[in-house]
Formats: sequence, structure tokens, C-alpha cells
Amino acid sequence: MILLIPGPVTTRAEVRAEMARDIAPWDDDFRVVSRRIRQRVRELAGGGVETHTALPLQGCGHFGTEAALRSVLPPGGRILIPDTGSYAERMAKLATAAGRTPVMLKVDRNRAVPPHRIADALAADESLTHAGLVYSETSTGVIQNIQEIGRAIRATGRRVVLDAVSAFGALPLNLMDHPEIDTAIFTTNKCLEGLPGMCFIVVQNNRLLPAGTAASWSFDLADIYEHSIRTEGGAFRFTPAAQVIQAFDTALNFFDAEGGQPARLTRYNANRDALRAGMIRIGLTPCLDAADQGPIVMNIHAPGDPAWSLPNFVTELKSRGFTISNFYDTEEPSFRVGCIGHITPDDMTRFSVAADQSLTAMGVVQRTPQATHSL
Ligand SMILES: *Cc1c(COP(=O)(O)O)cnc(C)c1O
Repeated sequence: MILLIPGPVTTRAEVRAEMARDIAPWDDDFRVVSRRIRQRVRELAGGGVETHTALPLQGCGHFGTEAALRSVLPPGGRILIPDTGSYAERMAKLATAAGRTPVMLKVDRNRAVPPHRIADALAADESLTHAGLVYSETSTGVIQNIQEIGRAIRATGRRVVLDAVSAFGALPLNLMDHPEIDTAIFTTNKCLEGLPGMCFIVVQNNRLLPAGTAASWSFDLADIYEHSIRTEGGAFRFTPAAQVIQAFDTALNFFDAEGGQPARLTRYNANRDALRAGMIRIGLTPCLDAADQGPIVMNIHAPGDPAWSLPNFVTELKSRGFTISNFYDTEEPSFRVGCIGHITPDDMTRFSVAADQSLTAMGVVQRTPQATHSL
């Protein structure tokens, strides 16, 4: 079965094989592994030895975002969040639940945000200390120009919390060029093609609020940071997903062997292009214009035919070896297909054939979107 969801992704057998043993997380052997991974992650993010630290946290990407918000924004602190889609909404929800105040900036969700919109909104409200950005908005497939946005925000003197969960490993990120970024968050199970269960927050050391400010011991990055210094980087405060970390080490070896981030982006771009071509070939309509379509995930308009049903489509596709998301994240009915993971353009072409067969089996004749949709 090939997973064509935007995480967790299809992984290599060698990565999955790392799960098949028992590990003592506090043993010295494992400390060597976790220390090495933290260093690799910091280097991958372009963080400096003296200035940045990669902090691992058990759990999913949202846990990382919550920890970041609690650890750099003071209670009551205000953060501007461009409303790029559901992941921006989720960041706002996490901020609110933590007693911080998100201020949403309305943007066109189908296009990258013009950097000056963010800078203008920050300039207009001095109480906003931070901007919360979603690098790759997984609900729409749109990616942001972090280099340009970063430059605009630097000019305002404000700070950034970056949700790089579906971007890191594929889209460029060099934290030394981004002194405005306090924290960048990602997980093991998206573009780095590891297994789910851990997230990493790469922090600028001197931007963390004092330990205790997070109002959560579990999600206090300053506490995790201090613990890592006390224990020389190898030990966790609480039981980690040790097998996931071990598997991540192997996933990073394959990442390096492939040629790192540039090579991964090239492959994902090719996956995206093959998928787009395949969808158009079978009569379907991608939601975004080609110029706005990022390489991580693609939404495709649901066919207008009354025989269309997303659950049935998902079932038909599964019988042909592909799993896609069984919900849609756009206002109008669509289905979404991930372009990331241990997959190639050939898989996308095979997927397009399977989608064609699935629609035929369902009796879907009209494949253009519903007429109410303005194309
Ligand atoms: C996947 C993802 C997350 C985190 O999702 P989890 O289910 O919590 O791992 C956060 N932000 C973006 C943009 C994502 O794609």
C-alpha cells in the first residue's frame, strides 16, 4: 500500500525495520544516537553551534507548535497569524488555549501571502511581538516565500514562530539567515520520511522565556533546553519514542545519500508535476493554478457527477494499492493527494491510472467540477 497523504508518509523498509527491537532510552548507547540526531537536525536547519539548539519532543507536530508558542510568547502575548488555512487556524487555537492572543490576518488562501501584508500588519500594532507562519499550508498546498517574508519581518524588529512541519527537509530553511525566527517546528514523519511519534523544535537559545513561563511542564522548551545542557544533550526528561528516533537516524542517512534538501525538493517537484499532469489527463481539475501549487500536497476538485463520493473513491483506490486522505480541507468538495514520502513520479502516474479506473468503477462520467464552481 502506498500512502499518498501529506504525512505520515510512505517510508523505506529499512526505516521501518529499525522499529523491530527493544531499546533502553536512558542507556548510554541510545544517548549517543539522540545526541547525534540533535546535532544533525540543527545543522540541517542551518542553526549555529552557539546560537541554536534542536530540542526533541515526544508526540506530533501540534505538540511542537504548542511548546513553541508557550515558550517564546509570554502569557497574554500577542501573535499575528496570517490565516492561510486550517494549520494557521490550529496555531491560533493552540495559542488561545495557552492563554496567548492570536490576531488573524485575512489573506487569499489560494496564493502565497505578499510579504508586505505581514510587515504592514505588524507595523500597525506594536503589541504584536511575533508572527506565526505556516511555511507549507497543508490544507491548501500553498507554500510561502519565507526568505522574503523573513526579510520584511526583520525590518519591523518582530519575531517569528515557524510551523515548518510539512516543509522541513524539502523546502529551504537556513536559520542563520533568519535571526527573526525564534523557533522552527517539524516532525519526523513528513519530508524527512521517518516514522510518526516525535517532533523537533529548533530554537534560538537566547529567545526562550525562563523555565516555568510555559505554564506546562511537558511543553516547556526552556526546561527541555536546561535539561539537555545538564545531561550533555543525550537524555530525555520523559520516555521518548526511542524506536522512532532510531528509525529517524536511518531516515536521515537516506536523506543525506539522496543529496539532502535540494534533491528531495527536486523529487517532490517531479512528483507534483506528474500528479498534476495525470489528474488533468483523466479529466480532473486541480484546485490551484500551477504557479501557486507547492510540492507537498495537491487538492483536486471533486468531479461534478452525482455518482461521486469521497468515501467510495478512497475505498476504490485502496483496492488498487493507494491510500489518500478521506476528508477534504477546502471549502468546496475536493480530494487531496500528498506528493511527499518515499515515492517517485512513476508512483504518481500509476496513481492517476488507479484514479481513472476507480472513477469508472464508480460510474463517474462528468469529471469537471460542479457547475456552481466558478472556474
Ligand atoms: C502535519 C502538520 C502539522 C502537525 O500535525 P500533527 O498531526 O500534529 O503531527 C502541523 N502543521 C502542518 C502545516 C502540518 O502539515
